[in-house]
Amino acid sequence: MLDNQLESSSLAQPLEPLLDLSSRQAADIFARAGRAQSNLSKLTLDIRLAGLRKLLDYVVENRDDIIDVLCRETRKCRTDALVSEVLGVLDNFEWLLKNARKILREKRVSTPITLLGKRSRIVHEPLGTVLIIAPWNYPLHIGLTSILAAYVAGNAVIFKPSELTPMQGLFEKLFAVDPVMADSIQVVYGTGKSAEQLIEQKPAKVFFTGSARTGRKILHQCAEHLIPVDLELGGKDQAIVFDDVNLERSVKGVIWGALTNAGQSCSSVERVYVQSGIYEQFVALAQQEIEKLVLNSGDAGNADVGGMTADFQLDIVHRQVIDAQAKGARILTGGATLLDNELFYRPTLITGIEDDMALMTQETFGPVVPILPFNTEDEVVDCCNASAFGLSASVWSKNLARANRVARRLECGAVSINNVMLTEGNPALPFGGTKLSGYGRQKGEEGLLGYTRSKSILIDKDSQKLEPNWYPYTRSKYLAFDQLIKTMFSHNPLKLLKMAIIGLKLETIAKRPR
Ligand code: NAD
Repeated sequence: MLDNQLESSSLAQPLEPLLDLSSRQAADIFARAGRAQSNLSKLTLDIRLAGLRKLLDYVVENRDDIIDVLCRETRKCRTDALVSEVLGVLDNFEWLLKNARKILREKRVSTPITLLGKRSRIVHEPLGTVLIIAPWNYPLHIGLTSILAAYVAGNAVIFKPSELTPMQGLFEKLFAVDPVMADSIQVVYGTGKSAEQLIEQKPAKVFFTGSARTGRKILHQCAEHLIPVDLELGGKDQAIVFDDVNLERSVKGVIWGALTNAGQSCSSVERVYVQSGIYEQFVALAQQEIEKLVLNSGDAGNADVGGMTADFQLDIVHRQVIDAQAKGARILTGGATLLDNELFYRPTLITGIEDDMALMTQETFGPVVPILPFNTEDEVVDCCNASAFGLSASVWSKNLARANRVARRLECGAVSINNVMLTEGNPALPFGGTKLSGYGRQKGEEGLLGYTRSKSILIDKDSQKLEPNWYPYTRSKYLAFDQLIKTMFSHNPLKLLKMAIIGLKLETIAKRPR
């Protein structure tokens, strides 16, 4: 059990109003982070990993209480909180524990023959103080996976959760399992104004997950200070279902991909393209499946779909559905909130969609499944790539050669073949988008190294030897270098021998005064 009370801060009425930071407070937070990072730089990776191990154990132990807080703040159904949030976090922690040493250790790289006798190394150094700004849809998973990757890489971290799901006190409680971790990670509450104050303090990097609208503002502010930014933004992800699939499995998979977390996932299925031969059957089966789903939050693990976290998001979803209907689309099921609870939007199946409807051009971020027919592979790839977004996709076909080909043709950051949203399930795979879905990668080796700066080191012996490319430049040296280039890039089987002779000649010339 968590010994301190984790107070509920429901969406509508946080217990304590979230006051935004003053510039003075932001400066104090950065000063503390600077001290923490300096302390951290004297400690080993093993110490950070030991803290992570304690945190992992603590999350496992206290998962029920954590899920209570999550469900209260987000209106998720309990299984979404358990699987996508808690299990997702634990998988990522375990991956860090197993892989961080290898990825972050100093690396020896090859040195070319022209630099004979020298050795080359790459050192992965922490960046300093990293600012992580998070959204409300997966407040635990997105928060903890990015915070811990940055911390394990050796950075002090300042974390600003969404003001809609601050889960006040929870993160502090978790980091308190380890004193070094608690000292190195600060949680700062408030709206975007607090985040702006923090950016003004010039973090070494901003890692942002949220909307494209906010991403643009952050990029603009960071440009002033040349602060590097990773942007994990929204999506309009497609499922492409060819006519050779196992129908029942692909319907169930696509429906889950569209409705998990009540559709409030950046990589939710937001457009379903089904090949014409199975279109009618697919739609009929999808309707049957959707109508069986149970909506609830605060459940015991037996509800399928939770509520909407943000009232304004519910309005966006409904407006898109109504707009599509007004323009000729057919709502086969859903299209409204539950009669007895307006925070639950009924899973909505919709057909007769046209490319110019808001439902096709803007992120929906709600429990809506638009299904469209297509005929050929080329046609569907063109439709998908016409989107301004490019986060992820799923491709469904028994013909793996075709599925692999389509996966490679899609302009996006991740593709699951014969499954859905599953690249996120493997912590070894990097996650991130293209186009309006942003850039930069989190998770996997690339994500972890994204919280480091590589430093290149070349080691030479302290010898008597003078480098031939140093002064003085002479005609004989010039001609020897010229000959070296000619030999080095030739196809002569004896080129190594010839290069050694030229090398000796250059060494002799280098010793001569002008
Ligand atoms: P949002 O952009 O409204 O807010 C995200 C965070 O940015 C919040 O913490 C907010 O306080 C902060 N913020 C607001 N204004 C700011 C400013 N001017 N400067 C700095 N920070 C500011 O996004 P949201 O509504 O919380 O989240 C939903 C969006 O996030 C969706 O578009 C979704 O697709 C996207 N998302 C993307 C990923 C991904 O990995 N690609 C994952 C989850 C969510």
